[in-house]
Amino acid sequence: MAFAPDQIVASFRHRFPRAGTPSLYRAPGRVNLIGEHTDYNLGFVLPIALDMACYAAVASTDTGKLRVFSEDFDEEFEIDLNSVSDAKPAGKWWDYVVGVARELERSGIAILSSDMLVKSEVPLGSGLSSSAALEIASAVALLGGQPIKPLDLALLGQRAESQFVGMPCGIMDQYASVFGHAGAAIKIDCRSLDHEYVGLPDNVQVIAVNSMVKHELGTSAYRERVAECQAAVKALQEFDSSIESLRDVSMSFFVEVQERVPPVPRQRARHIISDTQRVVDFAAAARAKDLKEMGKLFVASHRSMQFDYEISCEEIDFLVDTAIGIPGVYGARMTGGGFGGCTVNLLAPDGVDSFRRTIAEAYEARYGKTPLFYDCKPAEGAGPVSAESAA
Ligand code: ADP
Ligand code: MG
Repeated sequence: MAFAPDQIVASFRHRFPRAGTPSLYRAPGRVNLIGEHTDYNLGFVLPIALDMACYAAVASTDTGKLRVFSEDFDEEFEIDLNSVSDAKPAGKWWDYVVGVARELERSGIAILSSDMLVKSEVPLGSGLSSSAALEIASAVALLGGQPIKPLDLALLGQRAESQFVGMPCGIMDQYASVFGHAGAAIKIDCRSLDHEYVGLPDNVQVIAVNSMVKHELGTSAYRERVAECQAAVKALQEFDSSIESLRDVSMSFFVEVQERVPPVPRQRARHIISDTQRVVDFAAAARAKDLKEMGKLFVASHRSMQFDYEISCEEIDFLVDTAIGIPGVYGARMTGGGFGGCTVNLLAPDGVDSFRRTIAEAYEARYGKTPLFYDCKPAEGAGPVSAESAA
């Protein structure tokens, strides 16, 4: 359920009693339906923006500083405005905000002296992209209504994360947070940076299940995968020098030459090439309202992540395997960067209650942890929260 805007405004006033009336902005998290790790390989992805968002309340001040308080960490950070351009990452949550401020400055947008409070409904570190929600919420708050092209907004959020925070991410998360659309998934072409909206059939419900585990491998394994994909591209260039990324490689070409690609990059490439094709096929199946086919593609994508890309983990595989045995479930797969976080499930709306019960019981019995469930209704992208609703 969405936070009440007046509560966030009240929290802001409590935290920053000397600041003026704040403006309020929100930026959503996302659940990726299919196409995992394909974004930095310039392929396709198909996320939906969630109605869980990060909120940023902001008011200008005369302190010459940017002060940011995270309600979720109960911690405040401040930086002198003169220091933003040569700030160094601290390995802390505020790196995302400072990275965004630095990117705004680099684009010629002045950061005003301000107090900001952030608070998120997106679970942190669960693969639903609380990081992009924080970046984009901070960016729109710091912009304070100054115009920016939506694509530039997404790109500067991505640069903040990849160049300042140090996570070599693709464009999906920030793009989804900016371009989210109620009622539709977003099929993003990560090379051209164009998108089309893909409506989902009415008679399907998308539920994310949070495994409540996050294995520490996360960032280092992500870097490894990026490097392994580059190694695959290098090996494939021996056969066709026009190949610039795995996006340029068709499955039929890959099958012909794969024996000459070293084994690990070969596996990684097979996942990327097949998952990019699955995005295209899934979007077509969604348009044709072919739920069975959508479900099959989900499971194939999961197996590809499990065995070829090797980014799943025991708890996630258990959630997927349990889910696909439940009547009314069309398909299930891990979503997000990997090594824990959430699964995403496609199911018949009247099967939701028994799905939740069965999954919770099985997961608790096996791992002693209670999973959380999120109803993933596609929502609008980032923007101001209207004054009426904040009143
Ligand atoms: P995900 O994006 O899947 O949630 P990440 O590891 O990419 O996982 O990002 C999570 C990190 O983003 C948190 O550890 C924290 O540093 C930062 N973050 C996200 N939301 C907030 C918030 N509301 N307040 C402070 N930091 C946040
Ligand atoms: Mg993230």
